[in-house]
Amino acid sequence: MIFKSLYPNIEIPFQGIYQYITSNPNGIKDDKTIFIDGITGRKLTYGALKSYSKKFAAGLIDKADFKCGDVLAMYSPNQIDYLIILLGAIAAGGKVTPANPMYTVDEFTNQLKDSRAKYIAVSPPFLSKAIKAAAAANIPVSNIFLFGDKEIDGIKSYSSLISKREAIPIEYSSEEAKSTTAYLCYSSGTTGRSKGVETTHANMVANVHQIHNVEGVIDDESIYLSVLPFFHIYGLLFFVHLVILKGATIVIMPKFDLTTFCRIIQEYKINAIPVVPPIIVLLVKHPIARKYDLSSLNICLSGAAPLSKELAEEFNKMYNIQIKQGYGLTESPITHVSATDLVIHGSVGRLLPNMECKILSQGGEELGYNQPGELCIRGPTVMKSYLNNKAATDACIDPEGWLHTGDIATVDETGNFYIVERVKELIKYKGFQIPPAELESLLLTHPSIADAAVIGIYSNQEATEYPVAYVVLQQNIPKSDQLKEEIKGFIAQNVANYKKLRGGVLFIDQIPKSESGKILRRILRERIKTEHPLY
Ligand code: AMP
Repeated sequence: MIFKSLYPNIEIPFQGIYQYITSNPNGIKDDKTIFIDGITGRKLTYGALKSYSKKFAAGLIDKADFKCGDVLAMYSPNQIDYLIILLGAIAAGGKVTPANPMYTVDEFTNQLKDSRAKYIAVSPPFLSKAIKAAAAANIPVSNIFLFGDKEIDGIKSYSSLISKREAIPIEYSSEEAKSTTAYLCYSSGTTGRSKGVETTHANMVANVHQIHNVEGVIDDESIYLSVLPFFHIYGLLFFVHLVILKGATIVIMPKFDLTTFCRIIQEYKINAIPVVPPIIVLLVKHPIARKYDLSSLNICLSGAAPLSKELAEEFNKMYNIQIKQGYGLTESPITHVSATDLVIHGSVGRLLPNMECKILSQGGEELGYNQPGELCIRGPTVMKSYLNNKAATDACIDPEGWLHTGDIATVDETGNFYIVERVKELIKYKGFQIPPAELESLLLTHPSIADAAVIGIYSNQEATEYPVAYVVLQQNIPKSDQLKEEIKGFIAQNVANYKKLRGGVLFIDQIPKSESGKILRRILRERIKTEHPLY
């Protein structure tokens, strides 16, 4: 059976994302402060954001030879300059590929090469990594721009490009908006390594418009705190686009730490916190949270990873705030959100307008209410494709346009969905993607390792998953705890911090595989229950 959204269909004004989010349906005044840097106190008004982004677009075109369709990579934590640079590149007709600043040089180089980025915007602490990655990806240093207004080692600041004139943002017809990619976020999807997800202008307009039309998800009166990174689709959609459209005020943080998070809530009288489950655990369990006055909070939104009913209830009891959930994936950013009139703890909520779902059994049959199966999604938010990867696109979007999520879900008669399991390979640590295939190929370069498979295990204590490596040693290499530590250290040296083997290393004689050589992760997930201390 096909489950259609319970919300009435809405008309989506397909157009360029820049025009849409600055269409100002709420009549925001130009002098309204919409972004505040929670660390430095720097503020950005609605009018200044529009003006600077158009002036930066003009500078890109006039002084940096930026052309429609060019790709700009962003390598920075959340900062106010991020918004100006990102929207400037979009206004100039470009595509933006946001990267995690924690990425190592190799990880960033892969994204630069795969996305065919021509320009890089980087914040100063990450400059030396960016210069190395740019060299490896053949991007001239003259195409690297720094956040801020200072030149460092001959690398100019983006501010030096800000022009006197404001460019007219490139416009797109409805058809052009549907075919033109605006963002290239990276996701491993259901299998393999990270791939560029082609999110079109129309995808982004549709998703922001859907949420804008579902009452109560975000309002222009509230003050939001954003710790979620702009480089992840969740932060990009919610904080960059939705907030600008609505004209809400948002205080931004470059990275999470509990003390600063609580201090900012108290100081700015924050009303709403979109977070990931590990932050909710800290707010419930950590004594620091008790030291601050968090009574201004009245909205908590959780997404990106599973949130248990028990944790949601504990939070509710402690703060007297219900946690709304959102569900989605890079390939279709936010598809489900808790309904205002019916928040069910443990549920990811209802399907947004204009969307359809079906739930498939292993044999591919359509299932009904309360029957677990793979969640498939169809609608205007589903990505165009994986960049230059038809095989991967065809493997996840079928000929009828259904995106196969790799998540097992159920739906009840009230239209509320529940994510019960993830069957795809992907591991998520605190909301960040860890593609097992990446760690596996790295493990295979270690001289003592003959074969390897990486799976996730869940830590209740941190409300997140940890990657664990099963490794087969080369002949004559003795098993030892010291070798396990060495393998963990080897991975830690070669990947971003969040991808470290926090769940440890286990030895195994043979990795279970199918006849075609595919790792049978299901068998390992069963086996680990008998041998890992977290069980
Ligand atoms: P990403 O592409 O990084 O956004 O990761 C998407 C995946 O995160 C989904 O396919 C789910 O496995 C997981 N996910 C996202 N939101 C939720 C949620 N509210 N509950 C459970 N899992 C979620």
